[in-house]
Amino acid sequence: MVDAKNTIDVIITGAGPTGLMLAAELRLHDVRVVVLERDAEPTRVVRSLGLHVRSIEIMDQRGILDRFLAHGHQHPLTGTFFAAIDNPAPVQLDTAHCYVLGIPQPVTDRLLAEHAMELGAEIRRGCELVGLSQDEHGVTAELSDGTQLRSRYLVGCDGGRSTVRKQLGVGFPGEPSSVEFLLGEMEVGVPQETLTAVMTEVRKTEKRFGLGPLGDGVYRVLVPAEGVAEDRTVPPTLEEFKRQLRATAGTDFGVHSPRWLSRFGDATRQAERYRVGRVLLAGDAAHIHPPAGGQGLNLGVQDAFNLGWKLAAEIRGWAPEGLLDSYETERHPVAADVLNNSRAQMVLMSTEPGPQAVRRLWSELMEFEEVRRYLIEKITAIGVRYDFGEGHPLLGRRLRDVGLKRGRLYELMHGGRGLLLDQTGRLSVEGWGDRVDYVADISEELDVPAVLLRPDGHVAWVGEDQPELVGAMAKWFGAAGS
Ligand SMILES: Cc1cc2nc3c(=O)[nH]c(=O)nc-3n(C[C@H](O)[C@H](O)[C@H](O)COP(=O)(O)OP(=O)(O)OC[C@H]3O[C@@H](n4cnc5c(N)ncnc54)[C@H](O)[C@@H]3O)c2cc1C
Repeated sequence: MVDAKNTIDVIITGAGPTGLMLAAELRLHDVRVVVLERDAEPTRVVRSLGLHVRSIEIMDQRGILDRFLAHGHQHPLTGTFFAAIDNPAPVQLDTAHCYVLGIPQPVTDRLLAEHAMELGAEIRRGCELVGLSQDEHGVTAELSDGTQLRSRYLVGCDGGRSTVRKQLGVGFPGEPSSVEFLLGEMEVGVPQETLTAVMTEVRKTEKRFGLGPLGDGVYRVLVPAEGVAEDRTVPPTLEEFKRQLRATAGTDFGVHSPRWLSRFGDATRQAERYRVGRVLLAGDAAHIHPPAGGQGLNLGVQDAFNLGWKLAAEIRGWAPEGLLDSYETERHPVAADVLNNSRAQMVLMSTEPGPQAVRRLWSELMEFEEVRRYLIEKITAIGVRYDFGEGHPLLGRRLRDVGLKRGRLYELMHGGRGLLLDQTGRLSVEGWGDRVDYVADISEELDVPAVLLRPDGHVAWVGEDQPELVGAMAKWFGAAGS
């Protein structure tokens, strides 16, 4: 039986970074959201180690960056972030946040959960989606306890093995894992000198292996697995870890007292479609790739940032024709490009002689500042440009934060609405004032008369002509109101 009282606007499956960011974005528009999370407790497994520039900017645009800065460490952006090429030269990007923010994924997840809940999202833990069906009015989610939940839309943010994607029958073409790694946090039973000596020897070989101190005697350990596991959801045992450490480094370092143990592979796949009727996919549910360059979490958060306001517009009833579909049109190519650069990085990290030769040449190319910047703009996602057609070079790109006479631009974007920055003082958002904020101010850093920003900070229009502006507002924000 469907419980009518439980009718909600959007069910989000999965309280990972993608689902939590999406929940918060929807709540900014008063959309009733329930996040279903299979795990009763947040995971301790630390996958992502940080946020890249575009995600940092996003947190700033929503007024929550201070929370992340308080828990993270800022590292310089260098060429090393591409395929771990040894190129420590700093890369200058056109952003107010030219750094990598080191912050463990469980902290990111917690901060995003707090943000979503403060805005009124409901997160139901220990709640697994096992099936779904949809009709022209909404979606029915089947939960593992036998109950059903009804909503107008459902978004699968349920990770690489997404039940939602499988239920939709959406293809996930790509390559399976060819290698696998064991990753965990544990204590070591040997003195620091022994550890350093062995590490130095292993580094001389081409073996992929890592052992880094986290403080309090705990180390993050990465070691190749013996093969590719049938079921990667089953964590490795400490014994397996020791065996692989002995095979790789000649010693198991006396590892003991693991905090957590996990495994991951290099499978690379992308969903054929991001939308089937009232059900959408985002984050790892839509794309998976090896962690080279640290892009997956960032990509998922940015999917959510693109989708949130569009889905809210659909629910609030002001979405222009095709707005919701533009989520897939815009985000599918972005993920395809990330998959492409991840594959390239994996090849560059191969220990085979051919790829090693390409790596040497590649390292030489990366001595050129322009090459370095081009690649790091990809990794940090500030190079993303959605195809809004011909026009001003800023069109389709995210606008960096700029100083204004009265404050700065990103401070004005916390509410997730559109924004017209009018440096002429002659334009108007009349008719769209309920969806678009009007700011008459001057920025010495911005050489355009006026710019219209979507809620995700991408430039929808540049100019000074009111009729043209009206056309752009109708295109992105629907019909004028009374
Ligand atoms: C070793 C490693 C290192 C990485 N390092 C980085 C990095 O440095 N930077 C980076 O950007 N990315 C990194 N990533 C990738 C990053 O961890 C993922 O891309 C990111 O977690 C994806 O977020 P998500 O919310 O889409 O999915 P997930 O984080 O996988 O969250 C999905 C959630 O859905 C829940 N769920 C699943 N099925 C159901 C169901 N049926 N019902 C209800 N809930 C369900 C799960 O329990 C989970 O909580 C790394 C990954 C690995 C493996």
